[in-house]
Amino acid sequence: MFDHPKFITDASLAKLAKWLRLLGYDTVVFHKKAGREMLRLAQAEGRIVLTRRSDMTERQFSDCLYLITGKDISSQLNDVIDKFALQIEKQSMFGICLRCNRKLQSVSGEGLRNLVPPYVFENCASFNECPSCRNIFWEGTHQRNALQFLEKYIKNFRLK
Ligand SMILES: [Zn+2]
Repeated sequence: MFDHPKFITDASLAKLAKWLRLLGYDTVVFHKKAGREMLRLAQAEGRIVLTRRSDMTERQFSDCLYLITGKDISSQLNDVIDKFALQIEKQSMFGICLRCNRKLQSVSGEGLRNLVPPYVFENCASFNECPSCRNIFWEGTHQRNALQFLEKYIKNFRLK
């Protein structure tokens, strides 16, 4: 039904948006009041609206709206993964900046020496940079912690 869907969430679902980005799904957080403008943006960019506002589902555009009822991040994330049959694949995880929702770009070279801790520079094989905030990312404790969370809280979590 949805081939690698893109999402837009209302501001109250910012945490869910971060986890979707971590899994590799392009997700915009709409920080203004959720309503018509958010729906138009979703339609223009081909995004599925994830919202907590049950009154939004009554309006037009209802075919691209999905109401989130879960209170905690685990149930919300499981809900979205099930509903949209999201694939969780190692190669597409950690590829989007959690803050900016921009696709990270592979970077390398001596220039990184001053941008990351010395231990990381010596021991990590690959680095990525966000083209927007310029943060440098590498495989490390943050990724391990995220994987542990997913293994614990996502039903049938299996990394491909
Ligand atoms: Zn960024």
